[in-house]
Amino acid sequence: MAGEAKRTKVEIQKEESGFLRGGIKDELAADSAKFTKADVGLLKFHGIYQQDDRDSRKGGRSGVAKSERTHSFMVRTRVPGGVLTADQLLTELDLGDRYGNGTLRITTRQGLQLHGVLKGDLTATIREINETLITTLSACGDVARNTMCCPAPHHHDPLRQRMQATAQQIAAHLSPRTSAYHEIWLDGEKAVSSPASEDEEPIYGKTYLPRKFKTGITLPEDNCIDVHTHDLGLLGIVEDGELVGYNVLLGGGMGRTPQVENTYPRLATPFAYVAYDDVLAVTEAIVKVQRDYGNRSNRKRARLKYLLDERGNAWFKAKVEEYLGNGTLAAPKPVEVTGYDDHLGWHSQGDGKFYFGLPVENGRIQDTNGVRLKTGLRQVLNQLQPAVRLTAQQSVLLCDLEESARDQLLGILRQHGIPTVEEISLVRRHSMACPALPTCGLALAESERVMPAMIDALEGELVRLGLETEEFTMRMTGCPNACARPYNCDIGIVGKVPGEYTVFLGGAILGNRLNFIYKDRVLQEDVVAELVPLFAFFKSERQPGETFGDFCDRQGVEALVRYAEAHASVPA
Ligand code: SF4
Repeated sequence: MAGEAKRTKVEIQKEESGFLRGGIKDELAADSAKFTKADVGLLKFHGIYQQDDRDSRKGGRSGVAKSERTHSFMVRTRVPGGVLTADQLLTELDLGDRYGNGTLRITTRQGLQLHGVLKGDLTATIREINETLITTLSACGDVARNTMCCPAPHHHDPLRQRMQATAQQIAAHLSPRTSAYHEIWLDGEKAVSSPASEDEEPIYGKTYLPRKFKTGITLPEDNCIDVHTHDLGLLGIVEDGELVGYNVLLGGGMGRTPQVENTYPRLATPFAYVAYDDVLAVTEAIVKVQRDYGNRSNRKRARLKYLLDERGNAWFKAKVEEYLGNGTLAAPKPVEVTGYDDHLGWHSQGDGKFYFGLPVENGRIQDTNGVRLKTGLRQVLNQLQPAVRLTAQQSVLLCDLEESARDQLLGILRQHGIPTVEEISLVRRHSMACPALPTCGLALAESERVMPAMIDALEGELVRLGLETEEFTMRMTGCPNACARPYNCDIGIVGKVPGEYTVFLGGAILGNRLNFIYKDRVLQEDVVAELVPLFAFFKSERQPGETFGDFCDRQGVEALVRYAEAHASVPA
């Protein structure tokens, strides 16, 4: 066990928290805008991040004394498989208006985030979310996070139905059992959306997991949930048209810690094959191995990927088999990811109904700059009552629509200035940015607030080069924690210090290849200018069918730098 080394303070706080209670209830009643440090960590398990408005910090390192900062909270709802009802989404939109900053954010892991909630409004916010039968419990914290799954609602497609069933089972099975959540936020009432409330945690124990644990499920031909970025990726195996099981991929994780050299992004690698009916037991065994052997003395090295790399696949497999107690795990099938679909646009579901994938730039549902997305989406939800699914690209699928609803839907979107997927560029379609400033306490640089303008500029350059029909992914984060998965996309832009970024190139839209550092400390205003010569290089030297990411990967960093330096001042 990893218990020999000195445990971190967080581990002790978890153990002494009484199954995630800590002093949260008392602090809620206290006359203060924020929680003390010990409870700030516990709040995460309840789906809450304490934040402060970093725009209001001025001068010095932060200028404003910590005690005087404007504190508010991010409240994250977990949405297994991204499956929601229209009323659930409407409630979250209403809560964003009533208690938040007037926006609602679809996360990169198919969840929802409210920002700007004040301490005094937390209880009402969480209670109303639970009243719609969804929960914020374990949306954050050292537990199994939201279980992701390909959200495409093909109703006559048993493959996707069975995958969604797996996602819902895993989400329910790995949900914390503590009654603290209900006691603190719901006055001790048992929430319908949660499993039996008992103060024991048969899977987690008193100290839960060493770090967060992410699970995602999809099919090889449709890696829309970025299966390689999860601690546990499940890749559906289909035989004779039936989903018979999953290839288990282990050890994915994007985040790294600046200045800590032995932290790194890693793609999940093939581990085993499990039959469909065995996936829950194997998932539980994997979680328990990470629980018992994951690093509890250094949180920066506590994700499953480090345990796997330290101990090796064979050790991990033997441990999982030991925990299963019934034989050996089968070797993974020779199956790789081959495709990607963001599910945007109008599609038949196969049951006589249709779904419509609506792009949401950076997942932010708001009314701004003439695009009244929040108002228009509300009208669609109220009038058409579609089933809703959230995608891993932070967009929304409006499902179970009659064909006759199409004109009405498009009319509402037009009326509110909301672009459809046909009306946005491919680079915007395949881009993502994390929230970063002003809310995220870890942000080193801007992300969501500057990405749209960066895309505007790049769109113009791509048109000028005749490359506007190229498909590539571009993702930006305000720090190396990598919430928008910047390390396996074609172009990753990662905040280093205020106004400066590390530019990564050479990943793939399939998400199956890590990119490499092309240039460090690129000024925000220079990012597009740095990319333009490389696109010109790509245009002149690419091989047939080669994507931008493939091209950069083939050329390698030295050739790219050489070309860019030689052509920096030459118009492309
Ligand atoms: Fe915050 Fe960093 Fe995550 Fe962006 S990537 S939301 S800056 S922690």
